[in-house]
Amino acid sequence: MTPKSDKRPSQKKPKERVYKGLGAAHGIAVGKAFVRFGDRIEVQTYNVAKTKVTAEVKRLDGAVKVARRQIRSLQERARGMPGSAGEELVYLFDAYLAMLDDSRLVRGARESIEKNRINAEAAVEREFTTLAKRFEAMEDAYIAARLDDIREVAKRLIGILVRAPGKAPPKPPKGGIVVAEQLSPADMAQIDPENVAAVAAALGGNEGHTAIMARALGLPAVLGAADLLDGINQGDTVIVDGYAGRIVVNPTPETVKKYEKRQAEKRRSARALERLRNQPAVSRDGTEIQLMANVELPVEMEAVQVSGAQGVGLLRSEFMFMNRDDIPSEEEQTAILEQIVGPMKSLPVTIRTLDIGGEKPAPALLSNIDEAAASALGLRGIRLSLANPDTLRTQFRAILRVSAKRNVRILLPMVTTPGEVKRAKALLAEEADNLKKEGRKLPDPLPPVGVMIEVPGAALAADSLARASDFFAIGSNDLTMYTLAVDRANEHVAHLFNTLHPAVLRLIQFTTQAALRARIPISICGEIAGDPRYTALLVGLGLNDLSMTAGNIPLVKKRIRDMDALAASQRALQIMEQSDAGRIAMMIDDFNALA
Ligand code: PEP
Ligand code: MG
Repeated sequence: MTPKSDKRPSQKKPKERVYKGLGAAHGIAVGKAFVRFGDRIEVQTYNVAKTKVTAEVKRLDGAVKVARRQIRSLQERARGMPGSAGEELVYLFDAYLAMLDDSRLVRGARESIEKNRINAEAAVEREFTTLAKRFEAMEDAYIAARLDDIREVAKRLIGILVRAPGKAPPKPPKGGIVVAEQLSPADMAQIDPENVAAVAAALGGNEGHTAIMARALGLPAVLGAADLLDGINQGDTVIVDGYAGRIVVNPTPETVKKYEKRQAEKRRSARALERLRNQPAVSRDGTEIQLMANVELPVEMEAVQVSGAQGVGLLRSEFMFMNRDDIPSEEEQTAILEQIVGPMKSLPVTIRTLDIGGEKPAPALLSNIDEAAASALGLRGIRLSLANPDTLRTQFRAILRVSAKRNVRILLPMVTTPGEVKRAKALLAEEADNLKKEGRKLPDPLPPVGVMIEVPGAALAADSLARASDFFAIGSNDLTMYTLAVDRANEHVAHLFNTLHPAVLRLIQFTTQAALRARIPISICGEIAGDPRYTALLVGLGLNDLSMTAGNIPLVKKRIRDMDALAASQRALQIMEQSDAGRIAMMIDDFNALA
């Protein structure tokens, strides 16, 4: 919990160090490190007014409750583990729970809030430091192990307290580079791209939502850079190279100069691409492709406008539920959606219902269920929404209200059966009736309801899903993850995540053909859609509607304008006969080189 920089006196001429990770979001940034030492959260101490002391004690008690719930859930998981390791963990968690019940740590922190009139997290930290000093003086291995247990509990409590709603997290300095052990999508949602220059983390994969958010915010990002936190101090100069997946700590002046030169070159080519903004995305032989934007946060709307997007192909609505302990009201959701839908005027906006679960947390929705229940194979996406019909109803009401004035489509995530679509549509129809009875104007017909095809089973059953839904959107990120059994957010298997794997491509092709047969629109909104290297392949497979991070639209548009769509479909046919992802990549590169 002590910032590392306290322990590490800064040397006069620090040596340049390079860390290799995954280039999760393109771009280059040079700035000062703002390190969030995951284990060593920097706790700020502040005084609490006499009248607020009781509330502060309550805040501590609330954190104790949350910590108990988290540990119980971890304990449940440990119980399911085979062998003695699980058993030992169960005992360990029992010890943690006992510490949260009544221990010197919690009692002492409570007393400290009352006596010293300080904030709860500072009180926990002070109490822990006092205990640690006493324990360390005993020089006994058993006691040292107990100290580790207390540290774990204190860390958890502090983590909960500093992340409590209504409390702003410490802000990085202007132009700072956020460095952390791990950054969650919720952490990313709190980053102000105007203030932060880049992000870097020791954990995380290229295709997880943290990476997607970084790309959406236009922030260079390197994730999965192991040991990063061991060699970096608060305030160190850092270069984040999101192209090469490299982090340079304490670069020499020559290295800085080299990177600044590259930065300037990249800016120049971005400006050249901006000129394409009002040009159509039409191939040389006249095939028109729709280029839409994926949106994660309202701050992106300006970038969407300048990108020349023909609509929003995917609005990930999760951001509304992140970093808060309650569920946003219908009014609040309507107001936020209006901010996004309004600027698009008559252009289509595809609003996806909540896709919470897996790596995307939302405390309010997950508070009454076991953490494991909302895993990537658990209650994620439409499953969680159907298990919480009131939340889905509220979301539908807000979407319907904005659809009265705008061109809105509704998209359901993680669908696997037509039954899920039917149940969701029934709730939507009921809420539409209720809104009409309340005198609200709604469009007639109601907005189309489509499904994400992101589970292999859904792709293989695309014909039956096409009968139940109005359009498809292929989520190639999850489709790749679930087809290849590769966690998209896990840096250890990032090299195995490959959308060009023939199994994934066959599912994309199968789904596209099912949509064409059923005459329903189909788009693709996974990360592959925003990579110009793969545009010809997707167009060749018959996908004429691509949705991507707004910043990539000019790049993809350029590729389309340089391309012959007929030749692309011939090349796609040859590619679909291949069984090796490496060979497929080569055939794509060869085709791209012809243009
Ligand atoms: C996908 O899975 O490809 C997708 C677009 O959805 P998300 O990345 O939000 O899971
Ligand atoms: Mg998905």
